[in-house]
Amino acid sequence: MKYISILGSTGSIGTQTLDVVREQSDKITVTAISGNKNVELLKRQILEFNPELCCVMDDNNALKLKKILPSYVKTQIVSGMEGLIAVAEYEKSKTVVTAVSGMIGLKPTIAAIKKGKTIALANKETLVTGGNYIMDLSKKYKAPILPVDSEHSAIFQCLMANENKAINKILLTASGGPFRGKDEEDLKTVTVEDALKHPNWSMGKKITIDSATLMNKGLEVIEAKFLFDIEPEQIEVIVHPQSIVHSGVEFIDHSTIAQLGHPDMRIPIQFALFYPKRMENSYKSLSLSDIGSLTFEKPDLKTFKCLSLAFEALSAGGTMPAVLNASNETCVKLFLDKKISFLDIGNINEKVMLSHIPAKIDSIEAILEAEEWTKQTIKKLL
Ligand code: NDP
Ligand code: MG
Repeated sequence: MKYISILGSTGSIGTQTLDVVREQSDKITVTAISGNKNVELLKRQILEFNPELCCVMDDNNALKLKKILPSYVKTQIVSGMEGLIAVAEYEKSKTVVTAVSGMIGLKPTIAAIKKGKTIALANKETLVTGGNYIMDLSKKYKAPILPVDSEHSAIFQCLMANENKAINKILLTASGGPFRGKDEEDLKTVTVEDALKHPNWSMGKKITIDSATLMNKGLEVIEAKFLFDIEPEQIEVIVHPQSIVHSGVEFIDHSTIAQLGHPDMRIPIQFALFYPKRMENSYKSLSLSDIGSLTFEKPDLKTFKCLSLAFEALSAGGTMPAVLNASNETCVKLFLDKKISFLDIGNINEKVMLSHIPAKIDSIEAILEAEEWTKQTIKKLL
């Protein structure tokens, strides 16, 4: 039996992780979960999965949950960052699925690493902001990081039985998002509703907007650099609108291996939970003849500047990726609240990066300072 904690069980990745648990219910037990606002769903999850611990980030929502739970429920309810860390560190859990959205995932993920847990990493922001500091912690505490992000899961699978030094380049695929083929003029008038219509994946709002700006691919470039310890020049982003080829690796002998599947996050989630074993499931089989054709094109780096900014952040190093991530997080929130336009996201990210002098990251405080500096800088810019 595998015992797991899920940080962010009410979100897109969290609920799909619970789908995997339903499918493999004789092999996985959920011991601890967390949510933020969706108290009704947390109640249903507690009644179905009977976890020992549940964190509701917001104190008032935690009280609400306690009130609506039947009195026979034994699940302990905690709240705040302390509660989130308790879910991450929960002794019985050997694997922690990090499915919260944004930099809020940093502290609990580090706490889980320090307890030697296996990290099923969906929360890419942790690796983007912490980079080598997180990878070093993972080695020091023997806490393996297994990617949940479909592209990184694909690369990880392509690399099985091969060493990183045999890599020529990584082929990181991108759907292109809802605005593929549009130019800057078209993007001047797009709305939040337009940006939330992803063609292939159903995801949380933050990552859906990141997919529309191609910042998601930028964050994934940074994630791949640290996860697989490769040079940014070895990462080639390719737009592949059908989202069937999830990514690939070209080796030094010019043989290329790619991983394919339907765009269904339950597949990489299940792979991370059971690695190195493959488990049977009832999901849809891939029929390439039904799909017919797969197409590939170069990304438009001029219109979608967030992707270029990610490469620039990597070459600047130090706190720059953390600053780009924090700036983007703030901008996406402002865009969702209809306070800035779609194109402002990339423009503000660029301005913030231009005014930042990167420092070394040797502690969590250095990352949090970079985040705070970014928030203050954006306030001055607006
Ligand atoms: P969602 O927005 O769907 O879910 C976010 C989860 O985090 C919810 O459980 C939410 O709780 C909780 N949460 C939100 N804000 C806070 C907070 N301040 N404190 C504590 N918990 C909070 O996101 P996704 O599932 O789409 O994404 C999660 C992570 O996985 C992201 O890092 C994303 O980049 C990554 N990822 C997602 C993919 C996808 O297909 N969705 C694919 C690859 C990576 P509540 O709902 O109760 O408010
Ligand atoms: Mg992805």
